[in-house]
Amino acid sequence: MKWQSSKVQISKSCYRKNLKFIESILGPNTKMSSVVKGNAYGHGIESFVPLARECGIDHFSVFSADEAYRVFNCCEKPATIMIMGLILEEAMEWAIQNEVEFYIFDLIRLNAALEASKRVGKPAKIHLEVETGMNRTGLPEEELLSAIDIIKKNGSHLKTMGVCTHYAGAESIANFIRIEKQKSNYQRLSQMVKSSGIDAKYYHSTCSAGAIRYPEMKDKLSRIGIIQYGFWPSYETFIEFSSELEDKIDPLTRIISWKSFVMDIKTVRRGEYIGYGNIYLAGQEMKIATIPIGYGNGYSRSLSNIGRVLIKGIRTAVLGKVNMNIISIDVTNIPGVEKGDEVVLIGKQGNMEISVADFGDASKQINYELLTRLPQNLPREIID
Ligand SMILES: *Cc1c(COP(=O)(O)O)cnc(C)c1O
Repeated sequence: MKWQSSKVQISKSCYRKNLKFIESILGPNTKMSSVVKGNAYGHGIESFVPLARECGIDHFSVFSADEAYRVFNCCEKPATIMIMGLILEEAMEWAIQNEVEFYIFDLIRLNAALEASKRVGKPAKIHLEVETGMNRTGLPEEELLSAIDIIKKNGSHLKTMGVCTHYAGAESIANFIRIEKQKSNYQRLSQMVKSSGIDAKYYHSTCSAGAIRYPEMKDKLSRIGIIQYGFWPSYETFIEFSSELEDKIDPLTRIISWKSFVMDIKTVRRGEYIGYGNIYLAGQEMKIATIPIGYGNGYSRSLSNIGRVLIKGIRTAVLGKVNMNIISIDVTNIPGVEKGDEVVLIGKQGNMEISVADFGDASKQINYELLTRLPQNLPREIID
């Protein structure tokens, strides 16, 4: 992984600021599980997890066992790792052996965990995911009852670490009624587990938006993804939250920046088209710079003629189509541009910033999608 055409930087001081804010949201009695699925939302598991560890995080959530494996291998000091989604049976013994926790959302997996625990000779640490109305994964009530039965008969093999659910869009006010229903279903099903005598360590249901918008549901553990990286789950969540603030200043800071450089510069005559096809016609003599990133490098094609980048502290336009590995930008009115000059695709340069939100709005991608599309093989550098 060298000679790349762009790089990602992650700011430690900004991450610490976001953690302070999250602490203020969660309060002293709620622990944060740092959600690092999707290659830590594009920030890079191998760079981000050690940083989070250094900042005091000791609980991580991932989607799948392959991600858990990566988190496990980059944690020098042990941390709790929780798989919220896919674990293949072939990964179960590894998980149990290393005390990696995982969700149970059907009886097949529960039985597989029981068998694997017997083979390993250690208990499986499980979280019972209950179906409350998201209708994705989760044990419906009848299956939950059977699961409780199985767990009670096999207490030495199945250790219940949590009872959990996920809300179907807590970041959107329009989903309020649906979430309220989910909350009450969750409370009812949690109560069933409690009264069965199973002693779960955590009851957890909130993501970033859930912790902010439904603080009564925070309980002792909250699964925090997007806000730790400095992004709001939705514009709505920010507007609603900040209307309570006197200064209306965003308390979150983006920790990522994405940078490339000028590969070539050329002059284009009036009346010529730029790049493939005919979507950008030069209406005057123009100076353009080519930048060695494109959709093959995570810069979406939907930013053709729409994207903005920073060069020499100035915001300028992407001209024409985003190619597989190249974009052209307008530097007609930017003096002194040279090959090798830094170009910021996301992040700050001087007083200007390209936020993923602008970028996301322009390309109709949400924060989450744009971030996770950043290629895994880009170098990620931790800066102060
Ligand atoms: C992704 C995810 C989260 C974190 O969501 P954010 O909105 O990024 O905070 C929490 N719980 C589950 C089950 C998830 O899949």
